[in-house]
Amino acid sequence: MTPLFTTLTMKKIARGKKMEQIKALRCLKCGKEHQENSVRYTCPACGVEGILEVLYHYDKISINRESLKADRDPSLWRYSPLLPIKERPINPPLQVGWTPLYPVEKMRRELGLKKLFVKDDGRNPTASLKDRASAIGLLKAVEAGAKILTCASTGNAASSWAGAAAASSLDFETIIFLPEAAPIAKIAQLMVFGATVFAVKGTYDDAFDLAIEASNAFGWYNRNTAYNPYLVEGKKTVAYEICEQLNWNAPDKVLVSVGDGCIVSGVYKGFYDLKEMGMIDHIPQLIAVQAEGSASIMNALEGDGVIRSVKAETLADSISVSIPRNGMMAVRDIRNSKGFALSVSDEEILEAIAYTGKHGGVFAEPAGATSIAGLKKLIEQQKLDPDESIVAIVTGNGLKDVASAVKAAGKPFSIEPKLENVRQVLGL
Ligand SMILES: *Cc1c(COP(=O)(O)O)cnc(C)c1O
Ligand SMILES: [Zn+2]
Repeated sequence: MTPLFTTLTMKKIARGKKMEQIKALRCLKCGKEHQENSVRYTCPACGVEGILEVLYHYDKISINRESLKADRDPSLWRYSPLLPIKERPINPPLQVGWTPLYPVEKMRRELGLKKLFVKDDGRNPTASLKDRASAIGLLKAVEAGAKILTCASTGNAASSWAGAAAASSLDFETIIFLPEAAPIAKIAQLMVFGATVFAVKGTYDDAFDLAIEASNAFGWYNRNTAYNPYLVEGKKTVAYEICEQLNWNAPDKVLVSVGDGCIVSGVYKGFYDLKEMGMIDHIPQLIAVQAEGSASIMNALEGDGVIRSVKAETLADSISVSIPRNGMMAVRDIRNSKGFALSVSDEEILEAIAYTGKHGGVFAEPAGATSIAGLKKLIEQQKLDPDESIVAIVTGNGLKDVASAVKAAGKPFSIEPKLENVRQVLGL
């Protein structure tokens, strides 16, 4: 595709019309509503805990099943009227969204679920669902007149941010903070996209705080999750697609892997929007799947609803968080959907990587396969109805973390190039 996110288009975005579709940005903590252009990140009165939610005037939004049917654009921009952007970008540089929803026949047979689907969001340009958020984030950065972009990340948010910046026609600089233990492929992506990368001697949580400190000190535009209010608005498009791909029959249940809790809230927001617009008749039950070693959202849901930090320990790096930054909103949204959470062990996650590959042809990174690990566990516990329509989202591609894939699926037979060796190994 040609790099046509031209400077001219960018300028138009910056100057463009007022966003009539947006009602306000509402603080999750104190409930105060702010004007869209009056605040950049969180509620000034509540600080980092005052995460802002974008509220819409649904009656001013013109989009419906028919208009979408006529739209040939296989990307998230088909939902532009429902996004916090001034106008639909012309010739966007990366193709984000409209990832496949597979009917996974073999898994259906194996698991005894008649209407199971896998949404493979590892098919996004930088190979994770985070591309959806970065696509919106980039337009907001342009509106804000930003030149230097930053974020903290376990790896995927950063690589999607750096990829989006690299693909645009503007000369953004990206400065990234991530824990030094991040999988090498994610770091490699960042280097290839030309980011300046700080591998922080510490955890993701340490990198998160440092990125906010640095963006405040130096005036960089920050894409930290649950800090920048527009990212959830990108993530919600995965729910739009699921409904559209199912011909507007919203599924009964959706399984999502959960770390900070932004994706699950994005998924909720997507279904919520469609319900408000009268495009679906119910909001699916959300099932949040966490790693045993990083399960504070599950703990809160099963306890008093209050988020308490844990000492995160799991090989699923993308969901390894001690303090889930969007915990409060995630708990509220999972409850509103009448959903629940469960946790799975690292061993179950590894098994799910091999299972999803072998029975679905989908290669998932550990956090991506976590939803499938949750699915398998619920089947063992007989908590799923064979006739329910169930979607498991695979949030990231397996090539992001090859070391874990090898752990999951084993090593090949090492042989001399002789037919005899093939015979021997296969017992032929
Ligand atoms: C970020 C990420 C998640 C978790 O999303 P949260 O918003 O942190 O809950 C899951 N899987 C992958 C592959 C991710 O990159
Ligand atoms: Zn507030």
